Amino acid sequence: MGDVLGEEGLDALIVTDLVNVRYLCGFIGSNGVLVVTSSGRVLLTDSRYTAAARTQVHDTEVVIAGRDLMDRLAEVVPGGRVGIEAEHMTVARRDRMAARLSGVELVATAGLVEGLRVVKEPGELDLIRDATRIADAALSRLIDEGFRGRTEAEVAWDLEGWMRASGAEGASFDIIVAGGAHGARPHAVPRDEGIPPDTLVVVDMGARHAGYASDCTRTVATGTLPAALEEAYSVCLEAQRAALAACRAGVHTKDLDSVARGIIADAGLGEYFGHGLGHGVGLDIHERPWLRQEGGEVLQTGMVVTIEPGIYLEGVGGVRIEDLAIVTDDGCEVLTGVSTDLTTTSI
Ligand code: ZN
Ligand code: ZN
Repeated sequence: MGDVLGEEGLDALIVTDLVNVRYLCGFIGSNGVLVVTSSGRVLLTDSRYTAAARTQVHDTEVVIAGRDLMDRLAEVVPGGRVGIEAEHMTVARRDRMAARLSGVELVATAGLVEGLRVVKEPGELDLIRDATRIADAALSRLIDEGFRGRTEAEVAWDLEGWMRASGAEGASFDIIVAGGAHGARPHAVPRDEGIPPDTLVVVDMGARHAGYASDCTRTVATGTLPAALEEAYSVCLEAQRAALAACRAGVHTKDLDSVARGIIADAGLGEYFGHGLGHGVGLDIHERPWLRQEGGEVLQTGMVVTIEPGIYLEGVGGVRIEDLAIVTDDGCEVLTGVSTDLTTTSI
């Protein structure tokens, strides 16, 4: 972090995003501000977290402030140029901060801590592996047992319950279970409706474990598929496998997206793949790097990304196939252990 301050010409950085605070010092709570300088770090929190901070926080001085942490901010912020996280700060909070830090030049910054988070440490990779195993077990149970007459919402709730029973802190995002035409909505919300026969069901889920997320989508059949969905599945799978085969350090995210997008376009289905190929996963379920046509970056060893092309046929159904993978020097390590072959599950 000291290097980043130097590169940015900052005397300090005030970290207000709680995920970034957790990443840097270990604090888990709803009220914390971390001040980072070249000589050290100070965490401001309130008395509800005195005991928790003592056990969680490492290499950081802890100051217990009142509920409004800003009251003690001036004591721990040095003068000079001080960065704030512009993407994680309301205008009102910035103004309150400025009012208490007279003589300090507040500088808007973006993505400084996120830039440190993008390549994972070995310990972080282990936690993501564990989160993936927990989700895999729940998904495998669903595929083996079948939907058993449950509604989409009941299936989503059972998946979350099974993951919690296996040690997850919860689901890493709101689980998607979407059958038939509902599956044509990439971010469908599970309904109080049963799973229809002879169609596809999109199940997108992940576990949160020790703060770290996993992310996986499988699309299963519930009988004999209409030709359009059978074709969509096989094209999507071909695109997903080709992108996994092309995923390695040194490849630009845009080019990786193009691998999958080209296969889907060549099959005449390009207009039905509207989202990016994937995203990074870590403490946040969606974080850098972004695998899509816009912007992007070169993949590096130790990044964790999803590869998740989808094809969505309005009024008919949808398919998305998503694996989580660690980028390596000469390829990638696929973490998701559930087969991507088309599987028929009973309703
Ligand atoms: Zn997902
Ligand atoms: Zn995803």
